[in-house]
Amino acid sequence: MSNDILTGATNQFNFRELPHSRIILSEEVYTRLSGDINLCAFSGNKELEYGTILYGREIQPNVIYFDIPSSYDDYVPTKRVFDINMNEKSEISQMYKELINAINGKKYNCIAHVHTHPYIGGTCRYFSNQDLKMVETLQRDFQPKNGEKKYFFGGLLTVGPENTADSDEISFVFWDENNGWYKITNITACLNNEEIPFKRTGEKPQMRL
Ligand SMILES: [Zn+2]
Repeated sequence: MSNDILTGATNQFNFRELPHSRIILSEEVYTRLSGDINLCAFSGNKELEYGTILYGREIQPNVIYFDIPSSYDDYVPTKRVFDINMNEKSEISQMYKELINAINGKKYNCIAHVHTHPYIGGTCRYFSNQDLKMVETLQRDFQPKNGEKKYFFGGLLTVGPENTADSDEISFVFWDENNGWYKITNITACLNNEEIPFKRTGEKPQMRL
């Protein structure tokens, strides 16, 4: 599950919009993602990537509510890679074990792999082709054995050139086995029982409400 933003990228905003889609983030998820992008923007090393796994359910057709982020954070932030498989002792991480348990459990049918890209110019604001390949691999090869289908999403948080909140972006993609790639740009957060849309620059959601 490694990504490398230097091995080619695809502009996710050119994908078709998933019809009638919306992604709703719980307050806990919103807080975690805000923390991840701030780490990415302000850590001493601006080439490191951070992220988490989100767990949720489809509450209406193509409307996904992401309820909780990973309970664990024992991945190793690495230059231009967000890889949750190993902890710093090179053992299988709790974060990875939790993902496998969730795939085989019944509680969540939607799972998102979300990571940050630092601002390094070029195509850094797009999903790398390896990022996209990984979402495809999750969808194809990480299905539970009990036949209950899971849906995997890719999420990307990108820091803007000036490290100001109005230039940070959030985006989600979904890969459908029959129809290929979609984007979901209708993103909201649920705070105090109120659903608040993310601010936008044109069609691109900013990482702020
Ligand atoms: Zn990436």
